[in-house]
Amino acid sequence: MFEIAVLPGDGIGSEVMDACIEVLGSLLKDQTRFGLDYIHSPGGAQYYADNGIALPESTLRACEDADAILFGAMGMPHIRYPNGTEVNPQLDLRKQFDLYAGVRPIRAIPGVPSVLADSRAAQIDFVLVREQSEGLFYGRLYPESQPKGDDSEAFDLGRITRKGSERLFDFSFRLARSRRAANPAKGRVTCVDKANVLSSLAFFHKIFWERAKLNPDIVADHCYVDAMALNLVKRPWDYDVLPTENQFGDILSDLAAGLIGGLGMSPSGDIGDRYGLFQPSHGSAPDIAGQGKANPTGMILSAAMMLDWLGERHGLPEACAEAARLKKAVDAAFATGRIHSFESGGKDGTQAITAAILGALARFGAATMS
Ligand code: ATP
Repeated sequence: MFEIAVLPGDGIGSEVMDACIEVLGSLLKDQTRFGLDYIHSPGGAQYYADNGIALPESTLRACEDADAILFGAMGMPHIRYPNGTEVNPQLDLRKQFDLYAGVRPIRAIPGVPSVLADSRAAQIDFVLVREQSEGLFYGRLYPESQPKGDDSEAFDLGRITRKGSERLFDFSFRLARSRRAANPAKGRVTCVDKANVLSSLAFFHKIFWERAKLNPDIVADHCYVDAMALNLVKRPWDYDVLPTENQFGDILSDLAAGLIGGLGMSPSGDIGDRYGLFQPSHGSAPDIAGQGKANPTGMILSAAMMLDWLGERHGLPEACAEAARLKKAVDAAFATGRIHSFESGGKDGTQAITAAILGALARFGAATMS
């Protein structure tokens, strides 16, 4: 039995989490090799407003003891810390559990309309690997980064370390290798930086090429972040694994989600050497919270990533098989062409999309055991 810390959080976080738990229940109902035991744990911006703390000690302990963390969304624009920034406990969890690699797979799902007219949009399949322990987000907790008392200026302190960069690139090369094992057309790592302007990113860039030399079986190349923003709109199907600095990854992952139907379609895993936290790429979406409009697909695909990660980590192929079956069910639900989410201009919300995925799962039966 795997223990899963469940943090639904704010806004649509709890709506997509309920859908996800329902789907996981159906997925694993006949599974005899393992199960999931959920530890529901409070936290978030509303919790901060009510209690003066965003993540209680009990939640931190549940995350620490769990085999994996399943996370909805946290943060509400009107609830802020005294320095004016939003309450974003997910950033604290990344720091606390050293979740340095933000893995954001961007894969076109058949039947989901793309904003790109080009038919090659159906081939989009790349992964952003966002560095999450330093970069421009590093300074947010440091007093030097707070606005000056006389209201005349504010600045943020960015940081790139050798250790942080090496582990990010090594992770990316390993990921590219495993993607190539599944698909021989893959196996390329493209470093995204701004080495032509910022010295910290010139350092990042230099370390990338050092690590690329140690991984000669994988194609390595490089692109500045501004050019990458253009390329992701013009020819996203060309890419495979894209490691990048923290803030660049934050921005590009929203752009990339837009290519495959919106934030609600996009899963993510925050991975460290010991812990893994899985959450959709979107935030709490207060504009649609409580209306049943949230697309739960990103949350459900994040749970599939969690099963895959648990399976790999514990040498349990049945968990990887369940992850594959869940992804297949999501694809099948959309492939009918009958599901149109609110975010892509349709009328299907949480309930309809969840029902379609449950229906597809029922059609596939139990996962094939290997
Ligand atoms: P954060 O900074 O906390 O990650 P964000 O600024 O990226 O959040 P979101 O809360 O993710 O903002 O919402 C951005 C837009 O995308 C909103 O209009 C929201 O309604 C829409 N959106 C986000 N997630 C979903 C979803 N699961 N289903 C439908 N629409 C969504």
